[in-house]
Amino acid sequence: MSAKRYAMVIDLHKCVGCAACDIACKAENNVPVEFHWSNHITETSGTFPNVKYKYIPTLCNHCENAPCVQNCPTTAMYKNEDGLTLHNADKCIGCRLCQLSCPYGVIWFNKEEPHKVYAQESAPIVAGGGTSTGFQLAQMLDAPLPYYNPARAQTYEGVRPRGVVEKCTFCDHRLAAGEDPACVVACPADARIFGDMNDPESGPSKALAQHKPKVLLADQGTKPRVFYIRDFS
Ligand code: SF4
Ligand code: SF4
Repeated sequence: MSAKRYAMVIDLHKCVGCAACDIACKAENNVPVEFHWSNHITETSGTFPNVKYKYIPTLCNHCENAPCVQNCPTTAMYKNEDGLTLHNADKCIGCRLCQLSCPYGVIWFNKEEPHKVYAQESAPIVAGGGTSTGFQLAQMLDAPLPYYNPARAQTYEGVRPRGVVEKCTFCDHRLAAGEDPACVVACPADARIFGDMNDPESGPSKALAQHKPKVLLADQGTKPRVFYIRDFS
Protein backbone atom coordinates (compact mmCIF):
# COMPACT_ATOMS: atom_id res chain seq x y z
CA MET A 1 0.00 0.00 0.00
CA SER A 2 1.42 3.44 -0.93
CA ALA A 3 2.39 5.96 1.73
CA LYS A 4 -0.13 8.53 2.84
CA ARG A 5 0.25 12.24 3.58
CA TYR A 6 -1.93 12.65 6.63
CA ALA A 7 -3.13 16.15 7.44
CA MET A 8 -5.68 17.91 9.60
CA VAL A 9 -7.65 20.97 8.58
CA ILE A 10 -9.33 22.97 11.35
CA ASP A 11 -12.28 25.10 10.28
CA LEU A 12 -12.27 28.08 12.63
CA HIS A 13 -15.79 29.13 11.59
CA LYS A 14 -17.09 25.80 12.84
CA CYS A 15 -15.01 25.51 16.04
CA VAL A 16 -17.12 26.55 19.04
CA GLY A 17 -14.25 26.47 21.56
CA CYS A 18 -15.77 23.71 23.70
CA ALA A 19 -12.45 21.84 24.22
CA ALA A 20 -14.08 18.43 23.66
CA CYS A 21 -11.00 17.67 21.53
CA ASP A 22 -8.69 18.34 24.47
CA ILE A 23 -10.66 16.06 26.79
CA ALA A 24 -11.00 13.26 24.21
CA CYS A 25 -7.24 13.35 23.61
CA LYS A 26 -6.50 13.10 27.33
CA ALA A 27 -8.74 10.05 27.71
CA GLU A 28 -7.58 8.34 24.51
CA ASN A 29 -3.86 8.78 25.06
CA ASN A 30 -3.57 8.51 28.87
CA VAL A 31 -2.14 12.02 28.91
CA PRO A 32 -0.85 13.04 32.34
CA VAL A 33 -2.27 15.88 34.42
CA GLU A 34 -0.96 19.28 33.24
CA PHE A 35 0.13 17.89 29.84
CA HIS A 36 -1.90 18.94 26.80
CA TRP A 37 -1.22 17.04 23.58
CA SER A 38 -4.36 18.74 22.28
CA ASN A 39 -4.46 22.35 23.39
CA HIS A 40 -5.69 25.79 22.31
CA ILE A 41 -4.62 29.41 22.10
CA THR A 42 -7.08 32.10 23.16
CA GLU A 43 -6.62 35.75 22.36
CA THR A 44 -8.77 38.76 23.19
CA SER A 45 -8.02 42.08 21.51
CA GLY A 46 -9.56 45.50 20.99
CA THR A 47 -11.47 47.91 23.24
CA PHE A 48 -15.12 47.52 24.12
CA PRO A 49 -17.39 47.48 22.14
CA ASN A 50 -14.98 46.64 19.30
CA VAL A 51 -13.46 43.48 20.72
CA LYS A 52 -12.32 40.22 19.13
CA TYR A 53 -11.94 36.79 20.70
CA LYS A 54 -9.92 34.08 19.00
CA TYR A 55 -9.89 30.39 19.92
CA ILE A 56 -7.34 28.37 17.99
CA PRO A 57 -7.03 24.61 18.67
CA THR A 58 -3.41 23.43 18.64
CA LEU A 59 -1.57 20.11 18.54
CA CYS A 60 1.64 18.72 17.07
CA ASN A 61 1.74 19.98 13.47
CA HIS A 62 3.45 16.83 12.17
CA CYS A 63 5.73 19.20 10.25
CA GLU A 64 7.30 18.06 6.99
CA ASN A 65 10.54 19.81 8.03
CA ALA A 66 10.42 18.84 11.68
CA PRO A 67 13.22 20.41 13.76
CA CYS A 68 12.33 18.10 16.66
CA VAL A 69 13.28 15.13 14.44
CA GLN A 70 16.33 16.82 12.93
CA ASN A 71 17.76 17.65 16.37
CA CYS A 72 17.06 14.41 18.22
CA PRO A 73 20.45 12.74 18.79
CA THR A 74 19.04 9.21 19.18
CA THR A 75 16.34 9.07 16.43
CA ALA A 76 13.78 8.65 19.21
CA MET A 77 11.78 11.38 17.47
CA TYR A 78 11.20 10.25 13.90
CA LYS A 79 8.97 10.50 10.83
CA ASN A 80 7.05 7.42 9.73
CA GLU A 81 6.27 6.56 6.10
CA ASP A 82 2.92 8.37 6.28
CA GLY A 83 4.50 11.63 7.46
CA LEU A 84 3.54 11.37 11.12
CA THR A 85 6.07 12.70 13.62
CA LEU A 86 6.32 9.89 16.17
CA HIS A 87 8.35 9.18 19.27
CA ASN A 88 10.02 6.03 20.55
CA ALA A 89 10.12 6.18 24.35
CA ASP A 90 12.64 3.32 24.49
CA LYS A 91 15.21 5.33 22.53
CA CYS A 92 14.56 8.65 24.31
CA ILE A 93 17.32 9.81 26.67
CA GLY A 94 15.35 12.81 27.92
CA CYS A 95 17.80 15.45 26.66
CA ARG A 96 14.84 17.63 25.62
CA LEU A 97 16.53 18.96 22.46
CA CYS A 98 13.31 18.26 20.58
CA GLN A 99 11.38 20.37 23.06
CA LEU A 100 13.86 23.22 22.63
CA SER A 101 13.68 22.91 18.83
CA CYS A 102 9.91 22.84 18.43
CA PRO A 103 8.63 26.38 17.80
CA TYR A 104 5.09 25.36 18.80
CA GLY A 105 5.59 24.23 22.41
CA VAL A 106 3.73 20.95 21.91
CA ILE A 107 6.26 18.53 23.46
CA TRP A 108 5.94 17.59 27.14
CA PHE A 109 8.58 16.17 29.45
CA ASN A 110 7.88 13.62 32.20
CA LYS A 111 10.00 15.01 34.99
CA GLU A 112 8.03 12.95 37.53
CA GLU A 113 6.28 9.60 37.55
CA PRO A 114 3.19 10.10 35.35
CA HIS A 115 -0.25 10.01 36.97
CA LYS A 116 1.25 10.26 40.46
CA VAL A 117 -1.49 12.58 41.61
CA TYR A 118 -4.18 10.20 40.41
CA ALA A 119 -2.56 7.17 42.01
CA GLN A 120 -2.03 8.80 45.37
CA GLU A 121 -4.87 11.21 45.81
CA SER A 122 -7.87 9.90 43.93
CA ALA A 123 -11.17 9.64 45.74
CA PRO A 124 -11.97 6.20 47.20
CA ILE A 125 -14.05 3.77 45.16
CA VAL A 126 -16.54 1.59 47.07
CA ALA A 127 -15.79 -2.07 46.37
CA GLY A 128 -16.61 -5.36 48.07
CA GLY A 129 -17.97 -3.72 51.20
CA GLY A 130 -14.84 -1.60 51.67
CA THR A 131 -13.25 1.38 50.00
CA SER A 132 -10.02 1.90 48.13
CA THR A 133 -8.47 4.31 45.65
CA GLY A 134 -8.63 3.47 41.94
CA PHE A 135 -4.92 2.73 42.07
CA GLN A 136 -5.25 0.28 45.01
CA LEU A 137 -8.24 -1.43 43.42
CA ALA A 138 -6.39 -1.93 40.12
CA GLN A 139 -3.44 -3.43 42.00
CA MET A 140 -5.69 -5.80 44.00
CA LEU A 141 -7.45 -7.02 40.85
CA ASP A 142 -4.35 -6.97 38.64
CA ALA A 143 -6.40 -4.74 36.32
CA PRO A 144 -5.51 -1.58 34.37
CA LEU A 145 -5.95 1.75 36.16
CA PRO A 146 -9.51 3.03 35.71
CA TYR A 147 -8.39 6.04 33.65
CA TYR A 148 -6.21 3.89 31.42
CA ASN A 149 -6.95 3.21 27.74
CA PRO A 150 -5.08 -0.01 26.86
CA ALA A 151 -5.51 0.63 23.09
CA ARG A 152 -2.95 3.45 23.34
CA ALA A 153 -0.28 0.86 24.14
CA GLN A 154 -0.67 -0.84 20.74
CA THR A 155 1.86 1.49 19.09
CA TYR A 156 3.50 3.50 21.92
CA GLU A 157 4.14 3.30 25.65
CA GLY A 158 0.61 3.28 27.13
CA VAL A 159 1.87 5.62 29.86
CA ARG A 160 5.20 7.25 29.14
CA PRO A 161 7.76 6.81 31.92
CA ARG A 162 9.62 9.41 33.92
CA GLY A 163 12.57 11.00 32.06
CA VAL A 164 11.18 10.96 28.50
CA VAL A 165 9.15 13.36 26.39
CA GLU A 166 5.74 12.80 24.79
CA LYS A 167 3.37 14.51 22.33
CA CYS A 168 0.45 14.08 19.93
CA THR A 169 0.82 11.21 17.45
CA PHE A 170 -2.30 12.00 15.33
CA CYS A 171 -3.62 8.90 17.18
CA ASP A 172 -1.47 6.60 15.03
CA HIS A 173 -2.90 3.57 16.87
CA ARG A 174 -6.41 4.56 15.74
CA LEU A 175 -5.25 5.23 12.16
CA ALA A 176 -3.79 1.70 12.10
CA ALA A 177 -7.28 0.44 12.98
CA GLY A 178 -8.91 2.54 10.24
CA GLU A 179 -10.31 5.11 12.67
CA ASP A 180 -9.93 8.90 12.80
CA PRO A 181 -8.02 10.57 15.66
CA ALA A 182 -10.01 10.87 18.90
CA CYS A 183 -10.16 14.69 18.71
CA VAL A 184 -11.74 14.50 15.25
CA VAL A 185 -14.41 12.05 16.38
CA ALA A 186 -15.18 14.03 19.57
CA CYS A 187 -15.62 17.42 17.88
CA PRO A 188 -19.37 18.19 18.05
CA ALA A 189 -19.05 20.86 15.33
CA ASP A 190 -17.14 18.77 12.75
CA ALA A 191 -14.48 21.49 12.79
CA ARG A 192 -11.64 18.97 12.37
CA ILE A 193 -11.19 17.43 8.94
CA PHE A 194 -8.67 14.60 8.80
CA GLY A 195 -7.36 12.48 5.96
CA ASP A 196 -4.78 11.75 3.31
CA MET A 197 -3.63 14.68 1.15
CA ASN A 198 -2.51 12.19 -1.52
CA ASP A 199 -6.18 11.40 -2.10
CA PRO A 200 -7.83 14.27 -4.04
CA GLU A 201 -11.22 13.14 -2.72
CA SER A 202 -10.20 13.28 0.97
CA GLY A 203 -11.67 15.88 3.34
CA PRO A 204 -8.40 17.82 3.71
CA SER A 205 -7.73 17.87 -0.06
CA LYS A 206 -11.18 19.26 -0.76
CA ALA A 207 -11.08 21.79 2.10
CA LEU A 208 -7.62 23.04 1.07
CA ALA A 209 -8.75 23.40 -2.55
CA GLN A 210 -11.83 25.38 -1.51
CA HIS A 211 -10.32 27.71 1.11
CA LYS A 212 -7.05 29.60 1.48
CA PRO A 213 -5.35 27.86 4.40
CA LYS A 214 -3.03 29.27 7.03
CA VAL A 215 -0.49 27.50 9.23
CA LEU A 216 0.96 28.61 12.54
CA LEU A 217 4.39 30.32 12.42
CA ALA A 218 4.73 29.87 8.65
CA ASP A 219 7.97 31.89 8.74
CA GLN A 220 9.69 29.05 10.63
CA GLY A 221 9.74 26.93 7.47
CA THR A 222 8.55 23.79 9.26
CA LYS A 223 5.77 23.06 6.74
CA PRO A 224 3.01 22.04 9.16
CA ARG A 225 0.43 19.42 8.23
CA VAL A 226 -2.15 21.08 10.46
CA PHE A 227 -3.95 23.79 8.50
CA TYR A 228 -6.49 26.42 9.52
CA ILE A 229 -9.24 27.69 7.27
CA ARG A 230 -11.79 30.47 7.61
CA ASP A 231 -10.17 32.43 10.44
CA PHE A 232 -11.88 35.61 11.60
CA SER A 233 -9.09 38.13 10.86
FE1 SF4 B 1 8.02 18.50 15.83
FE2 SF4 B 1 6.87 20.60 17.02
FE3 SF4 B 1 6.55 20.23 14.34
FE4 SF4 B 1 5.35 18.57 16.09
S1 SF4 B 1 4.96 20.78 15.84
S2 SF4 B 1 6.53 17.98 14.23
S3 SF4 B 1 6.84 18.48 17.77
S4 SF4 B 1 8.47 20.68 15.42
FE1 SF4 C 1 15.35 12.74 21.23
FE2 SF4 C 1 14.31 12.15 23.66
FE3 SF4 C 1 16.27 13.97 23.43
FE4 SF4 C 1 13.81 14.53 22.53
S1 SF4 C 1 14.39 14.16 24.64
S2 SF4 C 1 15.76 14.95 21.47
S3 SF4 C 1 13.17 12.51 21.76
S4 SF4 C 1 16.39 11.77 22.96
